[in-house]
Amino acid sequence: MFRNIPFNRVNWFTSSFLIITFFVALIGTPLYIINFGLDPFFIVMFLLYFAASAMGITMGYHRLFAHRAFKASVPVRLTTLIFGACAFEDSALDWASDHRNHHKHTDHEEDDPYAISKGFLWAHIGWIFFKLYPRELNNVSDLRKDKLVMWQHKYHYIIGIVVGILLPTLLGYWYAGPGGAWGGFLFGGITRVVLVQHCTFLINSLCHTMGRQPYCSQGSARDSFLMAIFTFGEGYHNYHHTFQHDYRNGVKPWQWDPTKWAIWTLSKLGLVEDLRQVAPEKIVLAELRETRRKAEERLRLIDEKKAQGDLRDCPVLESAIDHLRSLVHSLQECYDDIEESFSKRLSVSRYVLERSRLNASQVLKQLIAVDNLQPMAA
Ligand SMILES: [Zn+2]
Ligand SMILES: [Zn+2]
Repeated sequence: MFRNIPFNRVNWFTSSFLIITFFVALIGTPLYIINFGLDPFFIVMFLLYFAASAMGITMGYHRLFAHRAFKASVPVRLTTLIFGACAFEDSALDWASDHRNHHKHTDHEEDDPYAISKGFLWAHIGWIFFKLYPRELNNVSDLRKDKLVMWQHKYHYIIGIVVGILLPTLLGYWYAGPGGAWGGFLFGGITRVVLVQHCTFLINSLCHTMGRQPYCSQGSARDSFLMAIFTFGEGYHNYHHTFQHDYRNGVKPWQWDPTKWAIWTLSKLGLVEDLRQVAPEKIVLAELRETRRKAEERLRLIDEKKAQGDLRDCPVLESAIDHLRSLVHSLQECYDDIEESFSKRLSVSRYVLERSRLNASQVLKQLIAVDNLQPMAA
């Protein structure tokens, strides 16, 4: 059973931390609640610490440091670095290096540190258990120039322990004595760390396995509203992999992306600036291109089935296919118009963009209709 595990490369320190904290949270939290109940003080502490450390990762480690999606003032950099350390996901420098490799080599077993092609468990947590390679950190030279990043790289364990574990424990003790100290240790510390970590890990595993691919289906990244809820907006992973430097992951105004809203709010307060955004035309072009690709692939498969005699003549299916072809044709016209205007730097009205999106959604609905009709002709 354990034959294929390369024990000589196990990262014992990190593995022990992940396993011990997981079981402390799993066993300690219910035991605490049975013995002491659940005081609102600790619920609020958990929520605040969860939000601060998760945002330290999503806003700081991910969008600011790994992707340079915006520029941030010293208070924002310092705060995200401190609370990012409290999530115990390595230093911002190490994290950004791994993540840049993930984007550059997505799904490539050798170079993507958490390639989903090596399995769900590997992408989720397995990759952290092993020292696969000495980190070269040759893709973060820009971050090395940031003194705050280098300070956090040197002291991230100490920062994490003091601010992420000791401080909530002391706050708990101040509030309710020795029992309260355990409450702070668990709710502000260990249990919160475990949950923040697994939310991050789920982006690497679940968001490369389940969900929609509205922008690009070349790689495995997927959009998941469910994951966006738990990860402060990071679940829109298909958009993110298509346009990684955009400060938004949930690009539509209604999409749940608290990290995007926080960055936008900080920009209005003058604390961050130069928010990078992809032009709406480019986003719509990606959606139209992907929709057309899906439709053409499906039409090709239908033609193949017909040629092999797997589909009988069925007038209802034929008319549905004809309608699909005409929708794809008008989708292509929309695409060409927008692309031409965009290449000439002419602005495209919001009306035209919305009409094109509507056309794409009609294509997708017609694809479902065609799929549902195929059994009739099979
Ligand atoms: Zn990814
Ligand atoms: Zn990313």
